[in-house]
Amino acid sequence: MTEKILITGGAGYIGSHTTLEFLLAGKEVVVLDNLCNGSPEALLRIERLCGKQPELIIGDICDASILNELFDKHRIAAVLHFAGLKSVSESVREPLAYYENNVMGSLNLCKAMARAGVYHLVFSSSATVYGDPAQMPIHENVPTGALTNPYGRSKLIVEQLLQDLADSDPRWSIAILRYFNPVGAHSSGLIGEDPQGTPNNLLPYVAQVAIGRFSELAVYGNDYPTRDGTGVRDYIHVVDLASGHLKALQAIESTNGVKTWNLGTGTGYTVLEVIKAFERASGRQVPYRIVSRRPGDVAECWASPAKAAEELDWHAVHDLETMMIDLWRWQLKNPRGYSPQAIQLV
Ligand code: NAD
Ligand code: UDP
Repeated sequence: MTEKILITGGAGYIGSHTTLEFLLAGKEVVVLDNLCNGSPEALLRIERLCGKQPELIIGDICDASILNELFDKHRIAAVLHFAGLKSVSESVREPLAYYENNVMGSLNLCKAMARAGVYHLVFSSSATVYGDPAQMPIHENVPTGALTNPYGRSKLIVEQLLQDLADSDPRWSIAILRYFNPVGAHSSGLIGEDPQGTPNNLLPYVAQVAIGRFSELAVYGNDYPTRDGTGVRDYIHVVDLASGHLKALQAIESTNGVKTWNLGTGTGYTVLEVIKAFERASGRQVPYRIVSRRPGDVAECWASPAKAAEELDWHAVHDLETMMIDLWRWQLKNPRGYSPQAIQLV
């Protein structure tokens, strides 16, 4: 039986781009996704791009029997674990759903992996675990912060759970990847981010204003101590993020314990700079209005990617302009994301 990589959440935004990256690298992939925020259409389009479609198992990481069955049926070499809920505001309203999906789901997954004798895991964490750090850029050894929402806490709890697990059993080899702000889409315009309902994140909202779904963008505060008063973030192209997973998995193949890497570019941009870059890339105006700060937002957050560069030989190669061009191509080709009305492709 061929060894495969299990990708939980592989029908979602980052998971689909990483699935493509792994298939292009010649890996066999099985996707487990409950489709609460993912689309099987993404996997069909992956096949159009690389000629191979990963097997999709529709199921929940909270369901131990599905996990056990999957590990019994497939010979899994390693797991990339993207599945989870990711909205900060929703996590404040529905903390139990976040602890259940993100913490219990991860715990279940680790139990099923141990039962099956699979000990290589790459976990999707987030720069949110740093809270509001006093220094920029953020290195991996900056203390994890006082977190203000259940989403961030759920990520930090899983990080700690994984450390305890690796401490308890040297067979575990785990990569924790702390993503900064993933944006953009595959250059084909075939796969991209398809947020359900009103987007929470800046770039999907900007793109949907440009396409005419919303009349204007609310910019959350222009009184931060930054270049132009708006928040600074480290936006990273989703394809760079995907390639970081390949490198991380290669790096943990022959080691053990937990390794933590930031995946960011090392450059921060303000909200107004991002809007201008998007307007240049799309040729469309993005009307915006300054409103008050969004609770829980920090003034700036950008990575030191030095550790990933040194230890993984990984570098983000796409600049902000490319991120915006690729996002706009995806948005133009798929004004309604993956929904059936959107099939008007090349
Ligand atoms: P996404 O919502 O597009 O993808 C997550 C996928 O997981 C979806 O396809 C969803 O259907 C699936 N899923 C959710 N709960 C599940 C469950 N219980 N069982 C099985 N499948 C389940 O999100 P994304 O942006 O691709 O994020 C992927 C991971 O990266 C998440 O863990 C997220 O917290 C983390 N992350 C995302 C960002 C970001 O800004 N997008 C930043 C930092 C970290
Ligand atoms: N932002 C904004 N308007 C929006 C969404 C976001 O001004 O509709 C700002 C937000 O305050 C932050 C930046 O854009 O400074 C990135 O926010 P996002 O939600 O995309 O990512 P976060 O860094 O909060 O995870």
